[in-house]
Amino acid sequence: MIITSQKSTLREQIKEWRQQNQRIAFVPTMGNLHAGHLALIEKGNALADKVVASIFINPTQFDNPADLEAYPQTLQDDCQALQQHACDMVFTPSVEAMYTNTSQTTRVSVPGISSLLEGASRKGHFDGVSTIVSKLFNIVTPDVAIFGEKDFQQLMIVQQMVRELDFDIEIIGHPTQRDADGLALSSRNGYLSTAERKIAPTLYATLTDILEKLHNGSKDFKYLAEAASETLNNAGFKTDYIEIRRQHDLLPATEHDTELVILAASWLGKARLIDNIPVNLNIPK
Ligand code: AMP
Repeated sequence: MIITSQKSTLREQIKEWRQQNQRIAFVPTMGNLHAGHLALIEKGNALADKVVASIFINPTQFDNPADLEAYPQTLQDDCQALQQHACDMVFTPSVEAMYTNTSQTTRVSVPGISSLLEGASRKGHFDGVSTIVSKLFNIVTPDVAIFGEKDFQQLMIVQQMVRELDFDIEIIGHPTQRDADGLALSSRNGYLSTAERKIAPTLYATLTDILEKLHNGSKDFKYLAEAASETLNNAGFKTDYIEIRRQHDLLPATEHDTELVILAASWLGKARLIDNIPVNLNIPK
């Protein structure tokens, strides 16, 4: 596996693979890798001849400097895990290589959807995401890129950006990987204390409860969300939002919509956990 922080080295290698007609998959990450990230690498291997991962903690997508500062860095372990999962190349650029000035850089912004939900809670977050993903796409020039459904809104924003900016890259979403008790794998789970880790699966359990109720015909979305928020808060969470939205644009669902997604963000101690469940009421559970 090639590990490089240099754009020029990466570009040379990509050029060589292109000359050999190799299909290239790309998985962007911020490192501190877990089985959720590694599932994306495996998917990349199934879809392409070569898999490139990036590890870059992108400062422009953090709205809180303390959060950026505390973000876990485990480069050595990450590279070992990537190698074991047959990743072909890891790109680990420095902040200076990616931005000459983080506050004065050219930005890519996907309007509308970027200001909802996560975007409403974390100002500027998605502009940072769409900017860095565009830059990485321009450097890596993959045929296909894989993103986790764990970050459902991010996946939709990347899909819209690729459509609207004519990136010739196929975007693939991959289902959320969970621990046995249902908790979605996340680098931020490491912020949970032992006691909090025991409570954390309540988030997925609460979303699953809404899913059941939707399949049983419940249409009072506002009531379902409010009751779920109360359940979470009684368990020790501080809920940021819990919402039932339309899958295609993430706007509030009406009773006629059948393709829905239940999304939540909730604080548990120092960890802000997010999770979601896509729902299709046309397909029985
Ligand atoms: P991050 O390192 O948090 O920026 O995530 C990098 C990629 O891994 C994104 O596409 C995430 O959606 C994806 N990802 C993170 N956690 C999971 C998970 N539990 N299951 C599947 N994909 C995930």
